Amino acid sequence: MGKYVYLNGELVPQEEAKISVFDHGVLYGDGVFEGIRAYNRRIFKLDEHVERLYNSAKIIMLEIPISQEEFKKAIISVCKANDIVDGYIRPVVTRGSGTLGLSPWLCPKPNIFVIADTIKLYPDEYYENGLPIVTVPTRRNLAEAVNPMVKSLNYLNNILAKIEAKNAGAEEAIMMNQDGYVAECTGDNIFLIKKGVIYTPPVYMGVLPGITRATVMDLAAEMGLKVVEEPLTRAEFYVADEVFLTGTAAEVVPISSIDGRKIGNGSVGPITRKLIERFKEYVKTVGTPIA
Ligand code: PMP
Repeated sequence: MGKYVYLNGELVPQEEAKISVFDHGVLYGDGVFEGIRAYNRRIFKLDEHVERLYNSAKIIMLEIPISQEEFKKAIISVCKANDIVDGYIRPVVTRGSGTLGLSPWLCPKPNIFVIADTIKLYPDEYYENGLPIVTVPTRRNLAEAVNPMVKSLNYLNNILAKIEAKNAGAEEAIMMNQDGYVAECTGDNIFLIKKGVIYTPPVYMGVLPGITRATVMDLAAEMGLKVVEEPLTRAEFYVADEVFLTGTAAEVVPISSIDGRKIGNGSVGPITRKLIERFKEYVKTVGTPIA
């Protein structure tokens, strides 16, 4: 566990890092967040994550009272204070304390906090042999509701989907959009590979524009692989040669089966394996130094 948390301009011991029960982040899920990795004392894609945080905040009309540059300094400071080498960083901005009504205008001051710690989502076995996943009934939010491109504190659909996956004996869920096309998993983007070409649902299908997704798409292109963004059905995933997920916490995870259908021969496919290797190499060589 990390020792310090950044809270509203200060580094405070984590036992003292507290916010009010009247915070609308707690009462209504009114807020935004990010999940960022640090590798080898460098923060991976810091600019991209902070930009996405500010975009999420802008869409919900939450004005973050510090600049993006100040926010980046805050993230670096808490990593430094906790001596993070390989870690996971969680910046959160909530609407702040208000009344028991919904009104965001009665919340004068957003709360900003950043936790720097570690994370391990899945046991190594899944990276070596593939993760079995299932499709679930709970849909990804409509783009016309809370647009899935907003990384908000409202993750209840995703949590329900995770519960449905667990109830079905799987670790992760594929969520469809309102039209029944595959959107993404509860905390990861999804890709399939068919005849050497990589496919993933476009962001307009109700997908968070994942930073790992963009990284893997760039690395794949550099490796000479074709990447296509197009609407995909669950059946197309069933008959794919390879399937993998991408996300900051999960990184690149191979999928062994979907709804009991073996993907490829049920182990990690050759292109997925190469992408995992390339991703692992790449993350160690880039990023903002924690100094
Ligand atoms: N989709 C959802 C719903 C997520 O919560 C995440 C994790 N932030 C992702 C996809 C993956 O995004 P990223 O690669 O930026 O972590």
